[in-house]
Amino acid sequence: METQIATTDSEINTNETVRQAVALLQAGDLVALPTETVYGLAADALDPAAVEKIFAAKERPHFDPLIVHVHHKDALYEVAEVPEEIRKTVVKLTETFWPGPLTLVLPRRATIPDLVTGGLDTVAVRQTDHPVFHRILRNFGGPVAAPSANMFGQLSPTSAQAVVDQLDGRIPLIVDGGACGRGLESTIVKIFPGEKKPIIEVLRPGPITEIDLKKFGKVVFAKRNEVVEDSAPEAPGMLQSHYAPHKPLRLLERPEDFSPEEGKRYALLSYRGQQKDGYLDLHEWDEIAILSPGSGRVAEAGIRLFHVIRQLDFSDVDEIISEPFPDRGVGKAILDKLRKASS
Ligand code: AMP
Ligand code: MG
Repeated sequence: METQIATTDSEINTNETVRQAVALLQAGDLVALPTETVYGLAADALDPAAVEKIFAAKERPHFDPLIVHVHHKDALYEVAEVPEEIRKTVVKLTETFWPGPLTLVLPRRATIPDLVTGGLDTVAVRQTDHPVFHRILRNFGGPVAAPSANMFGQLSPTSAQAVVDQLDGRIPLIVDGGACGRGLESTIVKIFPGEKKPIIEVLRPGPITEIDLKKFGKVVFAKRNEVVEDSAPEAPGMLQSHYAPHKPLRLLERPEDFSPEEGKRYALLSYRGQQKDGYLDLHEWDEIAILSPGSGRVAEAGIRLFHVIRQLDFSDVDEIISEPFPDRGVGKAILDKLRKASS
């Protein structure tokens, strides 16, 4: 299959690209689309044959459920049943964070195929904040299922070129909407009524952080449980190996744990490139990539994470060593990705 890349660099081109993408979705085909988090691989969420193509293209196991994207807050009710006891919280969260990088896991409606939910009785829903994705979804009219547009287990793509690297020849169209503004997958939450206030359980940390969420309830984080490779994950993104580059990557929690092998070439993935953090002078690194130079901002580091790891993956080193990141805010999501990418 030949993969076409469609641009969105002018109004005329965007109109044509939107038309082409909608026609493919209507025909039950796949399209890779930009979102504010990472590129997604979209198909008609209500058409099992179309959804099956996502699993085939990504070589994704069927137990790993997909996120469903809706074009409007109210369209949430077309895919999910919102229980009365959490309805107020759901409305507040969608009014505050949609369109945006927050995914809600809710009881599903029967219209959603089993394939989308991995047989679970819940469905993950969000409304993305990307103008091109939004136009395509609005013109298409129904929900689309769209996980990240990468091969299963590999690095998430934050540019059209990163999608090409992994899915060229496997899908008919990639819509180039530029680099992703957030650069990390959406935060996924599940809501429970709670005793005094609602409980917001974070199943996957992401750009919407604990500080953002705690106005709406008590925030708890799903445990990082030990997951066996081919069984269904209890919570999303909990498969052991994920987000992995081709080169081995190791999160070095403490500098003193580094013992380089003779003749091996190492790259350092640095948070802010500061000597005082103890990593810069630890070794004569063959490459150094700094995610947020200076005093360091975890949000900026998050935006650049996948892009920079991808560049190091292309560089002439044998292994990527990553500094740890602050375990707060977006840093939680960065640590989550690095731990899963670590070999
Ligand atoms: P991706 O977009 O490729 O990052 O994949 C979507 C993520 O959402 C996966 O890690 C899924 O495990 C998770 N997910 C989707 N649906 C559900 C659900 N019903 N319950 C829990 N997690 C879900
Ligand atoms: Mg993914």
